[in-house]
Amino acid sequence: MKALVYTDTNEIVYRDEPAPIFEQGDVLFKVEATGICGSDMHAYHGKDPRRVPPLILGHEVAGTIASGPHEGIRAVINPLITCGTCEYCDTGLSNLCAQRELIGMRLPGAYAEYTKIPGRNLIPIPHQLGFTKASLAEPTATALHALNLARMKSFRPLAELKVLIIGGGAIGMLTALLLKGYGCRDILLAETNDLRGKSAAEHTGCRVFNPITDTLEGPDSYDLVLDCVGGEKTRNLSVTAAKPGGIFVHIGLMDSLGGLDIRKITLSEITLIGVYCYTAADVRAAVKAIDTGLVGDLTWVETRPLSQGAKAFLDLDNGLTAAAKIVLLPDS
Ligand SMILES: [Zn+2]
Ligand SMILES: [Zn+2]
Repeated sequence: MKALVYTDTNEIVYRDEPAPIFEQGDVLFKVEATGICGSDMHAYHGKDPRRVPPLILGHEVAGTIASGPHEGIRAVINPLITCGTCEYCDTGLSNLCAQRELIGMRLPGAYAEYTKIPGRNLIPIPHQLGFTKASLAEPTATALHALNLARMKSFRPLAELKVLIIGGGAIGMLTALLLKGYGCRDILLAETNDLRGKSAAEHTGCRVFNPITDTLEGPDSYDLVLDCVGGEKTRNLSVTAAKPGGIFVHIGLMDSLGGLDIRKITLSEITLIGVYCYTAADVRAAVKAIDTGLVGDLTWVETRPLSQGAKAFLDLDNGLTAAAKIVLLPDS
């Protein structure tokens, strides 16, 4: 089968690869759409020790079941494979399972004609929902999970909060669109790429500012800050923005250290929440959110053929596309 393979730092090659090898419980899955994630870009830059080349990346997947009794059913993949029996899996916190594995990390991913996945990780999609939109279920699930955790810590409904979202990539966009859908009207979005910032303003209706060239309006005044980048500078901006009693949700995984003014966090009783992935329930809710239009028409998503994947990575790397998400489709 044809696949897009991460072969070395800053190198992605479209080539022939052996078909997936099955284990018990796996089904063969025909890939119809796979989104490029920020974490795939991170790997491409050689910065993710968990993703070792040669590796087929890609975990934001929609397609069709191609083996077994459910062959032909359209579905999205919950790419987080967990044990199903530990204390976390038992209590609905499967994203914290010690055995968790994400496809496209150590296991082969979905920038390919086919991938394999345990049958229990498949979530059927409505017949009218297109594959490209459906492939956004995974990042939408992350945004839903983050907002759900914030909601549980907030004294007021999300709709009433003054919010800062840092990063106009797909997670930032989807978080903004979900909040809009919930009725939240006071959202500022920080994005350093002006091309992307313009697109974010157009498609979310949020106010957008560039934290490199502009200063943050109203430090110490945001009820909720979501850092979808997760770097030293964005953590610093988050803590600067949060008001006393505010909530700081950390989603991005750019780097590990720096930017946290623990003294301010302590004196201002800021709640810090780490967010990793989602549960299966979040992925199901994400499919529904996309299908019912809660996150809008998603016209900001760009599609390209899988064979042109290397160029897509290059364009994203060089900030040459306004799209917060590029979805790769099989070559016809
Ligand atoms: Zn992702
Ligand atoms: Zn488990």
